[in-house]
Formats: sequence, C-alpha cells, structure tokens
Amino acid sequence: MLDLHCHILPGVDDGAEDLAASLAMAEKAISQGITHILCTPHHNNGKYVNPKSFVMEQVKNLQMELDKRQLPLTLFEGQEVRITGDVLEEIQQERILFTDIGNTYLLIEFPTMDVPAYTEQLFFDLRARGQVPIIVHPERNAKFREDPNRLIPFLEMGCLAQLTAPSYVGIFGKSIQKTAKQMVKQRLVQMVASDAHGVHKRNFYLKEAFEAMENDFGSEYVQQMEQVAKDVINGDATEIPEYTEIRKKKFGLF
Ligand code: FE
Repeated sequence: MLDLHCHILPGVDDGAEDLAASLAMAEKAISQGITHILCTPHHNNGKYVNPKSFVMEQVKNLQMELDKRQLPLTLFEGQEVRITGDVLEEIQQERILFTDIGNTYLLIEFPTMDVPAYTEQLFFDLRARGQVPIIVHPERNAKFREDPNRLIPFLEMGCLAQLTAPSYVGIFGKSIQKTAKQMVKQRLVQMVASDAHGVHKRNFYLKEAFEAMENDFGSEYVQQMEQVAKDVINGDATEIPEYTEIRKKKFGLF
C-alpha cells in the first residue's frame, strides 16, 4: 500500500518531533500494510518552509535510519505546498517537489477557511504546463465542505483531489466524515492518504479507511484509488472514474 501524504520526517514541521517519533510512525505504517511513503512536509504554510533540496536531504537521512533497522519501508520525497501567489516562481527556482520525478503532480493545500480567488488562474497556468495540482483534504476546507460541488470546476480542468483517511473513519467528527463519504460516493476525490502526523496524534487510519470504503462502496472503489496513487507516484496518466454532482433536495420531506 502507498501513502501519498505523511509528515514522517523528524523535526521539520508539526509531524514527527524527532527520530524516535519518525521510527514509531514507520513501524505503525508497516503494521498497516504500507510499503511506500511520500514524505510531504508543510511548505510555505505560514509556519514552515521546507524547500526541495532540504526535503531531499531529510528523506535520504531518514531512509538510512530505516534501512539500518531493517524496517521495510521506502520513502519518496514530496511536499505539501500551501497555495500562495509564488508557486510558479518557486517551481522555477527549484524549491518545489512534485510527487513524481517527472514533475507532473503536486500536492496543494488551501487555507482551512478559504479557496483564494487566484486559485483558478494558478491552476490554469499549471495545467498549461502539463502539471496536475492535487487538492489535499478538501473535506476539511470550509468552502468545499459548504458545497463539495465546488470541486467540479477544478476537476474539469484536470486537477485531482485527495481525501484524508482519518476523515473517512470519523476521527475529525461526524460532519467531516459525512462530507468525506459524500465526496467518495460522488467520486469527487480520486485518492486517499493518511496525512499522518504521529502515532499519538493524527495517526494513519489508512487501512481502516480502505476497509470502511470497501464496505460502503465495494472493492472497485478501493482498487481504483490505489491505482491512482500508483500513477501519481510514477507520473503516469490517471484514469479517473466519472464524478457526479451532489444534487440538493428541493423537497426535503419527500
Ligand atoms: Fe498534511
């Protein structure tokens, strides 16, 4: 199993505090059946700045520590990029990490309460360069929660969206769980990742989320999501199931 979103690097953001915490996360991941992790520290979120070269160094170091202990887990370099007006410039300056070595897919995080007005233009520019923004945890963003259909214009541009596994199993509460299920049902999100921050806070729940999803919607949903995760790591084109708009009931009583 692949995990495309994880704060496992030691001491670089609000994820693992130190090496011991990273190793505990690695052990938990392995027990979940995770074999590969895309390390995605926060970048430019107002608190943490983790440019490409720094992340690459950190990933190399942690991989060495895992190998030393014969922990069977492969790490890849990535980033959770907060949306700012500087994303294109930062790509040119080689400060941004994509999920794949061909620089196709990148994880984009919105502020919790907002989808900035310049998003459409930025995504349009990225798409024109052949790049694919992946909107992370839309189910935890106020605007997308208010109306999940707001994802559709971005999906129509060829962007993707990534759900956080703990949302699906109810760790962030009933309301976020409901939104998460709705987004999966309508295929408004195309992949799931842990966004794990530690073993005592914000754990993986990836296995549990896939089990619940299989229960709710069948194994095909899970298989398709796992395939999208592989494609996103490999930089391959994705085959996306058709999404449908969430229809609002006009007559609540019927
Ligand atoms: Fe994250």
